[in-house]
Amino acid sequence: MTTQTLPEAQAASATISPAVDVRLLGVRKAYGDVVAVDGVDLEIEAGEFFTLLGPSGSGKTTTLRLIAGFERPDSGRIELSGVDVTGRAPYERDVNTVFQDYALFPHMTVADNVAYGLRVKGVPRAERRRRVEQILQVARLPNVADRKPIQLSGGQRQRIALARALVNAPKVLLLDEPLGALDLKLRQEMQIELKRIQREVSEVGITFVYVTHDQEEALTMSDRLAVFNEGRIEQLGTPAEVYEHPATEFVAGFVGISNVLERDGRRFTVRPEKVQMHFGANDGGEPGRIRDVVYVGMFTRYVVELDSGGELTVVRQNLETSSADALESRGRRVRLEWRPEHTFDMERPGGHE
Ligand code: ADP
Ligand code: MG
Repeated sequence: MTTQTLPEAQAASATISPAVDVRLLGVRKAYGDVVAVDGVDLEIEAGEFFTLLGPSGSGKTTTLRLIAGFERPDSGRIELSGVDVTGRAPYERDVNTVFQDYALFPHMTVADNVAYGLRVKGVPRAERRRRVEQILQVARLPNVADRKPIQLSGGQRQRIALARALVNAPKVLLLDEPLGALDLKLRQEMQIELKRIQREVSEVGITFVYVTHDQEEALTMSDRLAVFNEGRIEQLGTPAEVYEHPATEFVAGFVGISNVLERDGRRFTVRPEKVQMHFGANDGGEPGRIRDVVYVGMFTRYVVELDSGGELTVVRQNLETSSADALESRGRRVRLEWRPEHTFDMERPGGHE
């Protein structure tokens, strides 16, 4: 048996693992006393839709700006496609950014806005026109090429901002709350659009790094996501992993509803839709009392105070229950039951030191 040197071992493992497009190693960034990004390690694979999810101020935008090169880390290292770019300027990195406020040029037509990056790069006029036309098709904007941004709706402007970044076919597309300015209905439509666009450009192989504070958006759109809290990653995984197996109390509460109980020295979480609620006194499970009822149309959310301490939120579809039935159940005695395999142990708060 021969012993491999470290570079050889790395080269060997690189050939079998999927290509890593973005790698952060021990990245830290502080502004005065505020540590915005506190030692982040992250690997994003080529072609992945990867989301940075977290509350306001958790360091998502700073992380994105570090990847883009608008900020330099105090320590740590940033690699794009295996190349150390930590000291490189933004224009020396194969990334494009889409901001929440679109930042379109108001005096330019849609076509000129979209062509801008190609013109700066010196792409010839005919080629420019061909690529702009193509990307406007992908973004479903073919008939507005000659309009000015002001003559378009918010959703259309968002698509132009996206088209303007995509037309450059960057290795990595960075999106900072790109749908944040749209109302709920349009935002949900654009989520589907964005996923469609990502699939359509997948042969070019663009990696999407997406920032949002909206857990539903993160769960529906991402291949994988990282949950940020105070400049650190609390958990990284697929939407199903993070939702079904939250590793910390913070994740349990931020992604979904926090349902944490302590029993026999064990701290665990169980998701609301996994808890059965019985009204009969002789059924199995833990006894308690319904403290609160929230009728949400399709389903009702019940907050149950358990006799043995703690409370759980339970969700029930309104199959046969009317809103009046649901609301009348406030104060009633119930028993709650869940399967052991639907519970997940929690790290203690601050246990990720
Ligand atoms: P997020 O995008 O998750 O809301 P940010 O990355 O914007 O979070 O900010 C993380 C922390 O760093 C916050 O406390 C914020 O106030 C601080 N911060 C971000 N940018 C600056 C800056 N340019 N100067 C000072 N503090 C900043
Ligand atoms: Mg932000």
